[in-house]
Amino acid sequence: MRNARKIALFPERYRAFSLNNFRDIPQMKHLSEEQKFDIEVVGNVLPFKANNFVVDELIDRENFQNDPIYTLTFPKKEMLLPEHFDEMANLLRRSADKTKIKIAANNIRMQLNPHPAGQIDHNVPHLHGEPLHNMQHKYKQTVLFFPSQGQTCHAYCTFCFRWPQFVGMSDLKFASREIEKLVDYLKVHPEISDVLFTGGDPLIMSAKNLAGYIEPLLKADLPNLKRIRIGTKALSYWPHRFVSDEDAQALLNLLGHVTKSGKQLAIMAHFNHPRELEPEIVGTAISALRKIGAEIRTQSPLLRHINDDPAVWSAMWNRQVDLGCIPYYMFMARDTGSRHYFSVPVVRAWEIFRQAYQQVSGLCRTVRGPSMSANLGKIQVLGEAAAGGEKVIVMRFLQGRDPDWVQRPFFAAWDDQATWIDELKPAFGEKQFFFEAEMENLYQERLDASTAEDFE
Ligand SMILES: *Cc1c(COP(=O)(O)O)cnc(C)c1O
Ligand code: SF4
Repeated sequence: MRNARKIALFPERYRAFSLNNFRDIPQMKHLSEEQKFDIEVVGNVLPFKANNFVVDELIDRENFQNDPIYTLTFPKKEMLLPEHFDEMANLLRRSADKTKIKIAANNIRMQLNPHPAGQIDHNVPHLHGEPLHNMQHKYKQTVLFFPSQGQTCHAYCTFCFRWPQFVGMSDLKFASREIEKLVDYLKVHPEISDVLFTGGDPLIMSAKNLAGYIEPLLKADLPNLKRIRIGTKALSYWPHRFVSDEDAQALLNLLGHVTKSGKQLAIMAHFNHPRELEPEIVGTAISALRKIGAEIRTQSPLLRHINDDPAVWSAMWNRQVDLGCIPYYMFMARDTGSRHYFSVPVVRAWEIFRQAYQQVSGLCRTVRGPSMSANLGKIQVLGEAAAGGEKVIVMRFLQGRDPDWVQRPFFAAWDDQATWIDELKPAFGEKQFFFEAEMENLYQERLDASTAEDFE
């Protein structure tokens, strides 16, 4: 146990910390006034939310300023570019009025690539000519579903690419009767076998609200729907959700309905550091989920200052397998928000992945990575090779906008600084990667097929 205090009694009341009350956190007395001001400056641009479990059980009290979970949840000065930091700091020092601060914040946010990977324009599915704003259908078999009541989290990750929706800047529009629309969409798309509930964190919802989505989906008895996946970080940020919250048992019963109905329930659990797997209550929560028949798969981005070390990954995968989870993806940090602070070069990411992978048993090697979730698809970095007298980076698609792209190796010119696909150039002096011309055609088709309003 991290802080020597055994959580003998799991019941604990959730308490959120944000810019309004973070000064009440006892550990804050170790920070200088200037450091607390830094939190405010960054927190006025990027979202900030922690909670009592994260602060008391995950963050090391003694050494919290260098603690990976502290960096994962608390704003730091370096997370903004110096010019952005200074701009906001000056406004706060002058006690500028709220409107001015908000305009400046939005201005800075617009420079942080708030909508990476074509999130808004290109993935919105349509049914009978009507856009379905709380869904994304990019890969054939899997549709993402954003329940409107599940668009926040128990704490916010400082690297999160969903940050615009937490600062009220999202273009995410919610449809009424959203679950009926999902069911109708699944009926006319028999190729879809998986629905992935995502957010925010869908498990922020009460069991009652979540039932309003899950039960109609089960009741529709769709033969093509084989798996319900739920993307969540609750196992890390609020494991009480499955153990001692007032409706924890109701939640487990509801999730148990999924497996009882013959569908698979796949929890896509988000862990960034082995520390998050240490508290006893996390193991209790995982066991409770496994008892009702859930499979738990784990994923995380690779993040400088948090987990850019092979030993951290091998420890994390081992611990996950020990607890009965299945390692699934290592992602590259997205090209948005504080990317300058978190991103790791593609080549370095591959080295970290490879070294970690070499240290673990085959049961941990279900993990795939490092993978970039780009507009085009999920691109895996396979490593270094020599071809045609040139040193190249080998990559392949794990998922592609066009399924035909998947599993075809392709080559980029060697570049040990590039951190994202758009910084890499094709090898052998070629002008384009093989998929780029096809992508242009795809865009044009979609533009032609869509009403103009979707692209405003
Ligand atoms: C990652 C992702 C999925 C799920 O992909 P799997 O490889 O099946 O886990 C689905 N849709 C989008 C948009 C994704 O980014
Ligand atoms: S829990 Fe997930 S959605 Fe929420 S802030 Fe973290 S990464 Fe983003």
